[in-house]
Amino acid sequence: MRHFAVVGSGPAGFYTAEALEKAYGDQARIDILDRYPVPYGLIRFGVAPDHQSLKAVSKRYDKVADSAGVDFIGNVCVGRDISVSELLDLYDAVILATGAPHDRKLGIPGEDLPGVVGSAEFVGWYNGHPDFADLNPPLSGTHAAVIGNGNVALDCARILSKTRAEFEGSDIVGHALDALDRSEIQTVTLLGRRGPHQIAMTPKELGELGHLEAAVPVIEPADFPPVAADEPLEPGLRKSVSLLRAFADLATDKPKRIVFDFFAKPIAIEGDGRAERVIVERTVLDDSGAARGTGETYGVPASLVISAIGYATSPIDEVPFAAGKFVNERGKIADRLFAVGWARRGPSGTIGTNRPDGYEVADQIAAALAPGSSGDRAGAQGLKRLLAERAVMATDYDDWRKIEQTETGRARPGSPREKFVRHQEWLQTIGR
Ligand code: NAP
Repeated sequence: MRHFAVVGSGPAGFYTAEALEKAYGDQARIDILDRYPVPYGLIRFGVAPDHQSLKAVSKRYDKVADSAGVDFIGNVCVGRDISVSELLDLYDAVILATGAPHDRKLGIPGEDLPGVVGSAEFVGWYNGHPDFADLNPPLSGTHAAVIGNGNVALDCARILSKTRAEFEGSDIVGHALDALDRSEIQTVTLLGRRGPHQIAMTPKELGELGHLEAAVPVIEPADFPPVAADEPLEPGLRKSVSLLRAFADLATDKPKRIVFDFFAKPIAIEGDGRAERVIVERTVLDDSGAARGTGETYGVPASLVISAIGYATSPIDEVPFAAGKFVNERGKIADRLFAVGWARRGPSGTIGTNRPDGYEVADQIAAALAPGSSGDRAGAQGLKRLLAERAVMATDYDDWRKIEQTETGRARPGSPREKFVRHQEWLQTIGR
């Protein structure tokens, strides 16, 4: 029997477990560890609550978790409760699938002012992430700014602009829904340091902005090059740019606006003790396509500023780390130690991108470690013994299912599904 530990239960972790299970059949035991008592990482805490079709991929992960050779061990933080070298003593291979849960810093004056939040925090707040349950983003002003031109920036702008009725069928947490319902924000400005041809937004997500009940997207046609310049763009980007251009034809008789401000690089956030405006510098693109400041600056009013400029992986003691991810060669960090997903590649790509990634690493492991005995490696038994000695309250598959059933049980007809938003609530549910 081989023993494998997958650290992180988001998409990358589950695809890797699935691939290992296919490669080894009943000749392996695969433990999926997570620092939270419930799994699914980005699917639970990152994917927008109004994108239920994307969240449905967790049904595939359910099948993996249900299989005999796979176990879930929650509420265990690798690097704090147990070290990577201890895991390597217990398991034949350890695969880090820890994602990129932290916000990259803007590195501009004023980014620590109250009213400035990272997208991981804001997205976590409306998705019931325990670390951000008390974020309480300021929604009493009329203007917000979202920095970045990627899909996460779009998610934040859309969530800020939807009506209560538009969240029907979503699983947004109740406290965020109520706060958003009371929000006074009328204008959300999306700040892109480059132009329409450099956006990282995909067509489906961009298209949604054109169909909001109470908000209309606004563009400035002068920001766009002649239409013929769209021709050489990659088809997905060309479609996104066409959708952007078409926003100019939308009726503007809705109360809220999502304003695309291109060639606008944030250089400071100002305000009297809290965010009131983002100072941006007009840019032009240099020959390499990078944004170069022109020296012309102006202020964009915003009492809520969300920085959506990409995520970073957390370092773990003993594991080489550089440029926001674990140092690896095609997923291999060291002998029997691997990284997959965003911890391997950095925060890019769709959920599905993690599938080939996990399968590739599982193939490497299978090529190096034939099915057979792992000698005296104790696997889950040894891990559970160590955790008990350290008074770590690890949770298991049954605990997770009990928590989930209790959450679902809190659903009220016609309102979003209630989720626990505090770590303690999860543990109380299972009697800890
Ligand atoms: P992203 O796609 O990398 O976009 C980051 C954005 O931030 C870019 O527009 C970038 O501009 C900008 N930026 C970076 N540093 C900046 C700075 N210092 N000042 C101003 N702007 C800055 O990251 P993301 O939006 O966090 O998304 C992460 C991944 O998740 C992506 O692959 C995304 O497609 C995926 N995702 C998918 C969905 C979906 O499919 N529905 C939803 C959410 C996320 P430059 O281009 O100029 O660097």
